[in-house]
Amino acid sequence: MTQKAFKYRFYPTPEQEVLLRRTMGCTRLVYNRALAARTQAWYEHQERVGYIESNSMLTNWKKQEDLQFLNDVSSVPLQQGLRHLQTAFSNFFAGRAKYPNFKKKHHGGNAEFTKAAFRFKDGQIFLAKSSQALAIRWSRQLPLGVEPSTITVKLSPSGRWTVSMLVDVEIERLPESSNQVGVDLGITSLVALSSGEKIANPRGFKAKKAKLRKAQIALSRKQKGSNNRQKARLKVAKVHAEISDARNDFLHKLTTRLVRENQLIAVEDLSVKNMVKNKKLALSISDASWGELVRQLEYKCDWYGRNFVKIDRWFPSSKRCGNCGHIVDKLDLFIREWNCPNCGTHHDRDINASKNILAAGLAVSVCGANIRPDRLESKRQLRKTSNGKKQKPKS
Ligand SMILES: [Zn+2]
Repeated sequence: MTQKAFKYRFYPTPEQEVLLRRTMGCTRLVYNRALAARTQAWYEHQERVGYIESNSMLTNWKKQEDLQFLNDVSSVPLQQGLRHLQTAFSNFFAGRAKYPNFKKKHHGGNAEFTKAAFRFKDGQIFLAKSSQALAIRWSRQLPLGVEPSTITVKLSPSGRWTVSMLVDVEIERLPESSNQVGVDLGITSLVALSSGEKIANPRGFKAKKAKLRKAQIALSRKQKGSNNRQKARLKVAKVHAEISDARNDFLHKLTTRLVRENQLIAVEDLSVKNMVKNKKLALSISDASWGELVRQLEYKCDWYGRNFVKIDRWFPSSKRCGNCGHIVDKLDLFIREWNCPNCGTHHDRDINASKNILAAGLAVSVCGANIRPDRLESKRQLRKTSNGKKQKPKS
């Protein structure tokens, strides 16, 4: 069994909207208070506050006179918010994420309901403290016979309501394929495949970016706190939503296609976080949503019984000749094509890199080899070619 999320738009009745907005407001308040308390405890007394402690703080807040309104909403989303805060801290301590931020009202909101806080009956959803079913637009069918274990209601900054349901489903594995592919994050294109194919960003992406820029400039000129600023902010949020819809749709189609067509998929484990610091790459990478692409490939490979291999990020995928294995000293970002000084093969930079990634991926999956020895090898070769000067190989 695999957990799969199904997301739908819905249209709350005025009553439901009031209840949901209030629930989200309380969830945000509890989250922010707990975050402040945890931060203070750490900086003033070097004490760590965990989920259990913050949950008992919540119990106390509910007893305070000025916070009585916390009792008017379901307690489940409030606790789920504290669980998410706990996850945010775990990610921070593990070095995977920045320090958690306060939630802001204009970022929209969300409320998570576990089984105790909603009813699923005759294909309809009833939230706690609400007598009417949610008016959901069923854009795709929920698999027959399933029951959601968790549902999350979201209000986007552009004012759109969605509900996401987590269900357990049986996913049929795909028939074996003899194809395998290496995927490189392109600089001019979105990705380059070892099959020689290059995939560009979706059409109209540039125009949408320009539209966003225009809306952002308009927003920056509006007076703080004014009605017009509020309108301009909504406009920016709507363009953002348009862009992320187009991107998500595109990424899902691409990753589904790659997983269907190939038995093995190899990618580079680029730490996007670090790469975005490089200004030349920043735009193309954040646009390309490399992290999301890799995430989708990973879970879809898992669903459908495909092999997914992530290559060590110091593997010199770009500078290595895919034909003879020679590693060149330097390959500036602006160089799109090059000739191998050793064997003379003409390379497209990104396609050559994707071929190297596939070769390394095959080595890992076939014999469980580590890419590290290759790394030492490349270091040795680099030393040879750079007059004895030590260099750290970078992809
Ligand atoms: Zn060569």
